[in-house]
Amino acid sequence: MCDVESLIYLPFLEETGYCPTMKYAPATEIFEHCQRVGRHFELYEHALFQTETEGATWDDEADRWRVTTSRGDVLSPRFLIAAGGIMHKAKLPGIKGITDFEGRAFHTARWDYGYTGGSATEPMDRLADKRVGIIGTGATAIQVVPQLARTAKDVYVFQRTPSAVGVRGNVPIDREWFATLEPGWQRDRILNFTSAVTGDQPDEDLVDDGWTDVLWRDTQREAATPEEAAELERVDFAVMETFRRRVDEIVEDPETAEKLKPWYAKHCKRLCFHDEYLQAYNEPNVHLVDTDGVGVQEIGPQGPVVDGTTYEVDLLIFASGFEVTTGLVSRLGFDPVGRDGQHLSERWADGAHTLHGVMSNGFPNLLIAHFVQAGFGLNFHHYLSELTDHLTHIAASCLADGIATIEPTVDAEEAWVQQLWAAGKGFGRYAAQCTPSYNNAEGERSMAAARNIAHPGNLMNYVAHLERWREDPSRPGTVTTLVEA
Ligand SMILES: Cc1cc2nc3c(=O)[nH]c(=O)nc-3n(C[C@H](O)[C@H](O)[C@H](O)COP(=O)(O)OP(=O)(O)OC[C@H]3O[C@@H](n4cnc5c(N)ncnc54)[C@H](O)[C@@H]3O)c2cc1C
Repeated sequence: MCDVESLIYLPFLEETGYCPTMKYAPATEIFEHCQRVGRHFELYEHALFQTETEGATWDDEADRWRVTTSRGDVLSPRFLIAAGGIMHKAKLPGIKGITDFEGRAFHTARWDYGYTGGSATEPMDRLADKRVGIIGTGATAIQVVPQLARTAKDVYVFQRTPSAVGVRGNVPIDREWFATLEPGWQRDRILNFTSAVTGDQPDEDLVDDGWTDVLWRDTQREAATPEEAAELERVDFAVMETFRRRVDEIVEDPETAEKLKPWYAKHCKRLCFHDEYLQAYNEPNVHLVDTDGVGVQEIGPQGPVVDGTTYEVDLLIFASGFEVTTGLVSRLGFDPVGRDGQHLSERWADGAHTLHGVMSNGFPNLLIAHFVQAGFGLNFHHYLSELTDHLTHIAASCLADGIATIEPTVDAEEAWVQQLWAAGKGFGRYAAQCTPSYNNAEGERSMAAARNIAHPGNLMNYVAHLERWREDPSRPGTVTTLVEA
């Protein structure tokens, strides 16, 4: 299920008239909604589904991209928007011996129901005699562990860092209430949530869930005085105490409970909310294998090895997440070739060079949708819709104004990254003391990691940069050429 409320996470609910069934919709329903959106906007007629972009080369003569696909197409668009996903590339941990394991293994994004039995909606009935290991305890594992606990003989959960798991409180959405919503309600609700979870404290909390309860105060920003810094730390600690108390209230074995307590600060990792995860540890078939913050260091043919003990398992599941701020090229699966034959991977060898995260010098008319040097929203749908407005504005306004090419200057790119670093000072200090996660590039310290940051803090501060840029007809920080008459 989505971890952000369906009413603000599923896009185009007003356009399609669809009322989600639950406050947090299951994956099957989200997929059905994607198909509904596809039908509504006639994408089935116009999109090239099941077609992979394999290469994109800038054609300086034609002022167009030359795009090749897995189906043998050669396309020549004026603008190329690379929206290949911001969290779609499965990430496996670099554990010694990972390929030596002799049982069945898969990443959660490649679930093998043929092995586990069941389906996205039916219990996994082939696990009754299976010992299952799961590596990872983040947002995915929180949902997976209770399902495994239901049918597997034994479940071994290998933990590097415990998640903070608050109350989910999933409930059906009242259809009569939904029918009373006024036009524009979805945008209002989306903005209200973003404001509530970035410390703006709006008068009314429309979504009113765990996220808005916990994130009502931004405790990672730069404090103006030592007193304010102490106050922010106190608030942060108090919130994390509520998560730790919840573990004690639910988990019966005190030793297991102690290991499940998140000891870090609240903006370090994506918070989790679930009403069956902690409860699963009270089941006799669920075993927590804590690794004291270091993670599993070795996998043998029979299973993971922790502190010299081999945990023999039949199935090993990697709930190890997705790449978020790593190199764009590896995530896209192709390496755009810009002016003078330069590859994007070369230009970005020391990290990203962009204006607002969306355009890069030497790569005219390439518009990029990702997190690197761009915004970041707790509700990804909100971030993506703001970004889409910007990307489509750039392309449409250039086409309307007879502009053949647009690209940022190197100076504008450097000014942008300096702005990100300045805005991120407080956040950087906060993230540096965090446990490794995608929020702090797994703790990596390098120029690439420093450049590949997202705009810190409130999404709307990032959006304000985009809006100011759109309002200025001179397209500041860019060089444009006109279509030849
Ligand atoms: C398991 C999971 C749960 C999530 N739950 C939430 C949630 O509850 N709340 C939230 O706010 N966010 C959530 N997210 C974040 C989620 O990724 C985004 O909300 C959203 O799906 C991103 O949309 P997107 O269009 O950018 O990327 P995607 O939905 O990943 O779409 C990218 C598309 O590009 C295609 N593509 C990539 N490379 C190429 C290529 N070379 N050629 C052609 N096509 C290509 C991919 O196949 C894919 O279809 C979740 C992510 C995951 C992985």
